[in-house]
Parts: sequence; structure tokens; C-alpha cells
Amino acid sequence: MSYLKNVDPEIYDAIMGEINRESDKLELIASENFVSMAVLEAAGGVMTNKYAEGYPGKRYYGGCEFVDVAENLARERAKQLFGCEHANVQPHSGSQANMAVYFTALKPGDKVMGLDLSHGGHLTHGHPLNFSGKLFQFFGYQVDKDTEVINYDKLIAQAKEVQPKMIVAGASAYPRILDFKKFREACDVCGAYMMVDIAHIAGLVAVGLHPSPIPYADFVTTTTHKTLRGPRGGMVMCKEKYAADLDRTVMPGIQGGPLMHVIAAKAVALKEALSDEFKSYQKRIIENAHTLANELKNRGYHIVSGGTDTHLFLISFIEMGLTGKKVEKALDAAGITANKNTVPFDPQKPFVTSGIRIGTPAITTRGMGVNEMKVIAGFIDRVIKNIDNEAVPAEVAGEVKSLCDKFPLYSELK
Ligand SMILES: *Cc1c(COP(=O)(O)O)cnc(C)c1O
Repeated sequence: MSYLKNVDPEIYDAIMGEINRESDKLELIASENFVSMAVLEAAGGVMTNKYAEGYPGKRYYGGCEFVDVAENLARERAKQLFGCEHANVQPHSGSQANMAVYFTALKPGDKVMGLDLSHGGHLTHGHPLNFSGKLFQFFGYQVDKDTEVINYDKLIAQAKEVQPKMIVAGASAYPRILDFKKFREACDVCGAYMMVDIAHIAGLVAVGLHPSPIPYADFVTTTTHKTLRGPRGGMVMCKEKYAADLDRTVMPGIQGGPLMHVIAAKAVALKEALSDEFKSYQKRIIENAHTLANELKNRGYHIVSGGTDTHLFLISFIEMGLTGKKVEKALDAAGITANKNTVPFDPQKPFVTSGIRIGTPAITTRGMGVNEMKVIAGFIDRVIKNIDNEAVPAEVAGEVKSLCDKFPLYSELK
């Protein structure tokens, strides 16, 4: 980092500030994680210099022999990890992975069904301001009001009625196992493509702790930076019969040069994900989410759907009369980073919300376990129960810092 300090002390200070923020606070944002030093090294390497439009062995530029090695390894490891027929590792983000699939399988104006955004769906599943909502006609399916989980009979009935060209399964804030067989059934009643967006649950799927969509879906998209614990980016997996069309959609369809440094880092993360250590890591993520959710439930909080099967859960404050915005702010002052989130049938606007989303991938990467989850539940409870008492967050922040100090993060970089 000494070069950066000399050339650009302002950015150097911002990065050092970020390292300290990540290590001194409790990161409970469900979509975030901490990559390994090996992933960081690859992502910060010289492959950032290389133009490599095209695919391994078929590039529009010379000098691609080493980036070809990186991309081939990333593709092969993705295929091995997920058991898919084809993988495209070039999408710059999860959103672009989704765009690639929509543009491969759909025409503007086509009907698509996706989980309602206020019930856990993602922006790219039809938000009116997102390209998905502008270019395609999205129909939202929802969770049931009493169970707060997807009702598959209703989903199938809705598919029959709407006759979509595609059904999107997958979510940003849904804590339960998705039943891909039922999604396939819904697709088959109307001849729709099945796309599964595993951006959040990719790590769980990779090790078999969440059922795999690969046998059922036409297309599977993911990010590489959430539970998969790789660099920020996206990826699409599909059946061989769609491979050529998909690859053409990614480049030249929606992207130019691939980010080869990021693809190299994706390859490293995928290698890590093939290890036994990664499997036990994913197991601990779920154990931790389960414990944290239960501890809060026992303290009287409304956990959406009653709990979690995954790495995340939602707390609803509708009954308590609090907003997600207010709770997020109070937790932040206590050194606990989480995000406000709409909950099913939320009376508040998306910028205010009645919920908080909590995830355990990042704190589990640091080595925290079930005992720490009990302590963290106590922190969260103290902050929320004393939400109008400004002294409490400062007090909790001190205890958060001491807890974090016991689980060092990126000490090599300080
Ligand atoms: C995070 C997420 C994405 C998009 O990822 P970006 O890399 O932020 O574009 C897509 N789909 C779902 C379900 C997500 O949770």
C-alpha cells in the first residue's frame, strides 16, 4: 500500500478507514462477505490491464494466453462446483447476469413472473425503474400473509392465468428453502423458461445445503460475492443448448471487455469453494443464522416466516410500531451494520420499511460461532429496546469493538 499512500493519500486513507470499519464493526448485511487474501491478490493484480473481448481461444485481441488460463479455470471450476453444463463467468455483476439471461430468452414486452420486490425479490426482478421492469411485463407472485412463505399452489395457478414466457425464482430477502421442483411445475403449465437467481444462496447451493436448481432450471444466475465469498461479480450457468446464444448475449450483446482480474479472482474463490473447509463454513453460516434468529425470537421479536433455513432472516417491526430506518440507524450507532428491508405486506415505503434484514456470512468468515450469536442477539435487543436512549448504542459499540478484536480481520493489511 506504500505506492498508494504516496500517489494518492486521500484514497489511501479512505481504504485504510474501510479496513478498520470492516474489522471493528459487526457486519450483518446478508449480501456481504470478506474475501480471502488470495482472492484480493488476484483481484488487485495485473490482469486488470488486459483487453480480452471474446472467449478463451477465440479472442479479438492478441496476448490472451494467460487470461485464457484464468477464464478456463474459472469456467471449469464453476461447472465442477455446481454441476452445470455451461458457465459464463464474464458478467460484471449479478444484475448483468440477469440481463444476459433476459436478453437471451425474451423479447421486449414479454411477460415474466418474479417474486414481488416487497416480498423479497430483487430490483432486476421487475422494479419499475430497473431495465427489467421497463423492458418486460413483470407479474409479481407473493408470499402468503399467514405463513409468510411462497404458496406454490397459488404460484402454479397464477402461472396458468398469466401465461408468462419466463418465471424467475430466487430472492434477496427470502429466508426459506425454495422448492425448485414446484417452480418447474409452474413453468411447465405455461411453457415458460425457468430462471433461478441464486445470487444470495450460491454458497449454500454449492455445498448441497440448499437444493440445487441445476437439474430443473434453463438458466441459473448468481453473484460471486455473497455467500460464495468471491470478488464482486456475476455468473450465468445454463444447459449446453443455450450456451452459444448466452455467450453472444454477454459479449457483444451487453458487455465489451471482460474484467480479467476479477475473473481470475472468481477462479480462486471457486477453488476455495470446492474445499472441505468451505462446506463446513457454509454449515456454520446456517447454524449461526438459526441461532441468532431463535435468540431474537425468544426475546419476542417477529421473525418473518418464523425463522430461517438459510444465511439470512428478517425481523418485522410492524407490531412494535418501529421502522427499519430507525432501527438501522440505532444499530449503526452501536457498531452493528445491517440494512432496513421491506417485509411482506409492509405498510411503509421502501426507503423507510418495517423490517431489518440480518445475515451471518461475514461474521462467520471471521470465525464467530454460536456463542457469539447469543451475545450479538443481546446487543441487538438492548439497542432496540432502548431505541430512544442515546447512551445505549455508544455503550454497546464498545462491547462490539471488544468482540470484534477477538476475531481479527485483514491484520495483514493494517
Ligand atoms: C444481489 C442480487 C443481485 C444483483 O447483484 P449486483 O451484483 O448487485 O448487481 C441479483 N439478484 C439477487 C437476487 C440479488 O440478491
